[in-house]
Amino acid sequence: MIDFKGVHKTYPGAEPLHVLKGIDLHIDESELVSIMGASGSGKSTILNIMGIIDSYDEGEYHLAGHLIKGQSRMEQSRLRNELIGFIFQRYNLISFKNAMENVALPLYYRGVGQKERNSIAMNYLERVGLASHWDHLPSQLSGGQQQRVAIARALAMHPKIILADEPTGALDSTTTQDVMNLLKDVNKNEKLTMVIVTHELSIAEQTQRRIRLSDGRIIDDIRI
Ligand code: ADP
Ligand code: MG
Repeated sequence: MIDFKGVHKTYPGAEPLHVLKGIDLHIDESELVSIMGASGSGKSTILNIMGIIDSYDEGEYHLAGHLIKGQSRMEQSRLRNELIGFIFQRYNLISFKNAMENVALPLYYRGVGQKERNSIAMNYLERVGLASHWDHLPSQLSGGQQQRVAIARALAMHPKIILADEPTGALDSTTTQDVMNLLKDVNKNEKLTMVIVTHELSIAEQTQRRIRLSDGRIIDDIRI
């Protein structure tokens, strides 16, 4: 599903920063993988390359059999929309839209009519336990609830892969476990490939495969 061969990434600048120094990594369909590492070790950079929101300089990245190199922006966003669901630490919900509208919005860009996208959105809000909160604005939801809306929004697009960058980084420990339980459940029932970046050991310990990154290199790749 995800295949990195000798991937390097340097951020240019007065002092270029060599962030990824030869990443070899293969992730199969429906795996649940965590990536740990100190701040600045390149975790978000790897995830952004996986999700085709950042480029790489050397090596090869295949996503679901497609070599990600040299495509037009349009082709890249087509692949991204078809395959990838992102979940961010700060939820990235639209503040003036309610929960249902937030989940429905990406479906609008996919050309789904209003009635159908609202009904799909309600189904996914139900799935994450928030149907009764469909008309709440993000400001009227707790952090954990906002993250569940963001998860519903990702799922409604039927991605093959969920990429989550510190999805519980802004949550307290009880809510963290609620969100983790939901993500694990989705991985298991929907057979989605899931990559979770975290700096919390208690999160990584709940995944079957634990990758550790240090200074742009994979130093550990453990399957439980
Ligand atoms: P992590 O997510 O593990 O904290 P990142 O992948 O975000 O690490 O960043 C790795 C390094 O690259 C950091 O030193 C960061 O400051 C730097 N970096 C990240 N994004 C950029 C960018 N767009 N331009 C320049 N440097 C960047
Ligand atoms: Mg990061």
